[in-house]
This record gives sequence, C-alpha cells and structure tokens, in this order.
Amino acid sequence: MEGDRDDRDLKAWRGLWDRASRPVALTGAGISVASGLPTGSAKWNGIALRELFTRRRFEEAPGVFFACYRDWLWKWREAVPNPAHAALAEAGVPVVTLNVDGLHRRAGSVLCLELHGRLSELICPACGLLVQGDRAFKETVPHCPDCRRILQPNMVFVGEPVRHFAEAVDLVGDADLLLVVGTRLDVAPVNQFPAVAGRKGIPTIRINRRAERLLPALIAR
Ligand SMILES: [Zn+2]
Repeated sequence: MEGDRDDRDLKAWRGLWDRASRPVALTGAGISVASGLPTGSAKWNGIALRELFTRRRFEEAPGVFFACYRDWLWKWREAVPNPAHAALAEAGVPVVTLNVDGLHRRAGSVLCLELHGRLSELICPACGLLVQGDRAFKETVPHCPDCRRILQPNMVFVGEPVRHFAEAVDLVGDADLLLVVGTRLDVAPVNQFPAVAGRKGIPTIRINRRAERLLPALIAR
C-alpha cells in the first residue's frame, strides 16, 4: 500500500528533519512531474530533447531549434508550482536545481541555484541582454534588439558546464541535511554531491516519487 509506505518513510525521516537546522534541497525533473512537466526522456517530433538541446543543433539549424523551443516554452509556461515546490519555499530551504522550469522561483524560493539556467529567458551571446522567451513567438529566429545577434535560451546546452557549481558545492558542504528530490544525481558533475555529503557525514533523505505529497507532510508542521 502506497499510503503505508509513505507513513513508514515519513516516520524514518522525521527525526532527521527535526534535528536539521541547515537543510538544503537538490531537485530534478521528478519534482515537477506533478506540475505536468516531462522528465529528461521527453521527445519532440521523435527526437529526444537531450539530443535536440545541443549547441551543434542550435548553430546548424536555429530555425528548427526555435520551432522546438516554442513548443516547449508553450507547454512549460502553463505549468504552475506544485505543493513540493511550495513546501520548500515556505520553509526557506535553499534549493539547488537541475530544472530549467523556474518553478522554485515562482513558488517563492529566494536562494535557488539553477544549475542549468532558465528556459523562459533568451540571452544575447554578444552583449548579454536578457529578454523574455516570448520573443521567440514574434520572430521565427529571435535576434537581439540591440546588436542583432541570434539570441539563445538562457540555459546550459547539453554537455556544457553547469552554472553556480562551486557555490552549490559550498552550500551542500555546509548543510546538515540533504533532501534529494526527483533526481538520482547520476550525471556529472552533480554526481559529486553525494560524495561531498558522505565525506562530511551529512544525512540524506531521498524522495524519488510522490514528492508533492511527501515533502509537505515532512516539512509543513
Ligand atoms: Zn546583443
């Protein structure tokens, strides 16, 4: 029974949560599934998003790239934070996220390191101007209004270095409890976080399913 299992998990986690004064959450696609968003295996016209979202694809065929971006943005901007995002925000838990959906910030999380950037913004690679992604609905291939370069999503392309990593390692190393939610942390460099926590003896709670029920039950008292 899922409810019984949830109760057992919550009982086991309760003591860890109550003793923690500096919890940090690491979140991935699984936390946003209840908001209607896909996980990393999602496809667009039969092509996996992680294959589409490369710098090579972007540079070789920006028109195709932005056709995908528009579809993606359309779907993703309709998503709203779910109770798991809200619980972390209300409890003031710092968040390190692999997600580009911006839902932690929309839920009100102030300290939120978005390692892969943000889908809903476009950035000019030449002058750094940030504009809303909606601009891609007005131009087939959106250009910088200032310097006319092709804009790119304010996100990390597949295979490129993540952002804020040193800051994230410091945050994790300083925590006294790690909440790992909706990610297996099985890709570099985030696969280093469990080792960082292990070396410092930081306990870890892993929530891989039903975070929208389990996190509020654990955190909101
Ligand atoms: Zn520019």
